[in-house]
Amino acid sequence: WHDKLLGGFRRTSDRLVGNLAGLGGARLDDATLDEVEEALIASDLGPETAGRVRQRLSEGTFERDMEELGIRLVVAEEVEKVLAQVARPIGIDAFPRPQVVLVIGVNGSGKTTTIAKLAHLFMEQDYQVMLAAGDTFRAAAIGQLKTWAERIGVPIVTGPEGGDAAGIVWDAVKQATAIGTDVLIVDTAGRLQNKRELMDELAKIRRVLGRLNPAAPHDVLLVLDATTGQNALNQIEVFKEVAGVTGLVMTKLDGTARGGVLVAAAERYGLPIHAIGVGETMDDLRPFDAREVSRIIA
Ligand code: GDP
Repeated sequence: WHDKLLGGFRRTSDRLVGNLAGLGGARLDDATLDEVEEALIASDLGPETAGRVRQRLSEGTFERDMEELGIRLVVAEEVEKVLAQVARPIGIDAFPRPQVVLVIGVNGSGKTTTIAKLAHLFMEQDYQVMLAAGDTFRAAAIGQLKTWAERIGVPIVTGPEGGDAAGIVWDAVKQATAIGTDVLIVDTAGRLQNKRELMDELAKIRRVLGRLNPAAPHDVLLVLDATTGQNALNQIEVFKEVAGVTGLVMTKLDGTARGGVLVAAAERYGLPIHAIGVGETMDDLRPFDAREVSRIIA
């Protein structure tokens, strides 16, 4: 998995170094500092981190070694500082059980796969897991989640295509409570095209959950596809508005992704980043490690 993970972030890193190439050994005058700052922003790092790197470089603490390595070290340190504040695993600590984890995100982001990965992870931690197929809009989504549930060996509550998602969630919580499930993971529709409908549907799910347990949903995880770059930031914005978001999972970091957007997201929203997706199997979910990721990005 490690190689796969590296693959994703290394592209950001290569791009960074590509952008920084030619600066090695040069004096860091204002024009050069501007260039470095712009290169970092072009790598999706976000203006604040880029600005702090610029500031540190301008302070001349690296006088003797203003070459690529020195710059990268400063970038890595600043990136780690930002990411360390948001790296947080999902804890299962709700009482009474079940802990309800609502999973949201646009279609194609990797939501279904991430649910399967999370279910598998929690099972490995000896928790009892249940799934709820709350994306009733797409028949394929229900079928896909069912297949995953069978493969992983967890119960799933489903309904007919076009059925009432909130009703499924109600049934699922009832069943989960009855059999002592620790974690109930709820899939939801990802139709951003119709924001009003999506908002109404998620609000209804929240109302139903709240009636059964005022603390639910305990987690609202937004799944983001890292290959969409800056688009991921727009999705955070919209889903914060329609659903509230408590944490992020970034998928497809094994692909051609530019992981730098994680830094921009952390900087702008400060939302916890719980895990990253590094492939298509149920084992391809990794806890988010700020130090590791920062060394790879830079
Ligand atoms: P959904 O529409 O959001 O539920 O997305 P899916 O879970 O169906 O995923 C869409 C596609 O992305 C599928 O082909 C998945 O196998 C793939 N996918 C999901 N997560 C990852 C990941 O971390 N890495 C890679 N390479 N592919 C992923």
